[in-house]
Amino acid sequence: MNYSPPNPIDRLRDELSKARHCILNLMPEAYQGMLRSYYHCETREDRMRWKNAVADEIVAEVEAIPQQQVPARGPWSQDRANCPLRGRGSSSEYTSGFTLPEGLRRHLAGWGDSQYCPVVEEITQLAHAYWHDTFAEADAAEDRAKAAALAARRASETLYRTAPGGDPELLDGPYSYRATRTPDGLQWAEERLRGLGFSIECSDRIWTATYQDGEHIVYADHRQPGQLAFYVYPLPASTARRRKPRLLGQFTIFDTWKHDLPAKFQDRLAPATQIARR
Ligand SMILES: [Zn+2]
Repeated sequence: MNYSPPNPIDRLRDELSKARHCILNLMPEAYQGMLRSYYHCETREDRMRWKNAVADEIVAEVEAIPQQQVPARGPWSQDRANCPLRGRGSSSEYTSGFTLPEGLRRHLAGWGDSQYCPVVEEITQLAHAYWHDTFAEADAAEDRAKAAALAARRASETLYRTAPGGDPELLDGPYSYRATRTPDGLQWAEERLRGLGFSIECSDRIWTATYQDGEHIVYADHRQPGQLAFYVYPLPASTARRRKPRLLGQFTIFDTWKHDLPAKFQDRLAPATQIARR
């Protein structure tokens, strides 16, 4: 039988994990369940929300420091509480504890420039290690499936070019949760763009609406309901040496606007092109 001693890195990792579990076991019992709740996170969304949810639960449980025990309340009238996982407040000598609820929530969730709770930090590492062991394969499979679905959409759907260079985007752009116009809405918006003097092209499934004004070119994005978005760039000739032309300005024409649209468009275009001439 061959005996192979444990790899020193694995051994250290194992010891670190034990130390972190030890921290967890030393926490007041009322909070242990909350901190251990990472075992119940199944979906990615649950995992992403976990730390904030724990912070919210702890903040809801914690008791404020009695007013007479707060040494220097100063201008603060808010209740304060110490972090129940450590029994110490923020490091500022003028305060005692954290403001409730926001200061303590920030400390626990690690937001902003507040001092991050070292206990939550260690338990978060435990959670990540557990989630990695449990979900890494499923996550990778999910990522592959998403990438394949996206590639299939890009190979068959209309793509929208709203800037010179770069890849054209799908109807919902880089954000799949973004609201998009219906086919009728897109057609209505195209008519509106033509009324502003835009020329619209769709070749090889790539849609572009552009407007040329002297040395400038405006790209339109009509995909989102409620508005037309415009992006002003220098014409490619003047940026021959630049990889990505500089965005000179952007503006919006809302769907609710009915009168003098070409004048409104020109009013908004002028500042961007003037900046460029300076
Ligand atoms: Zn803390």
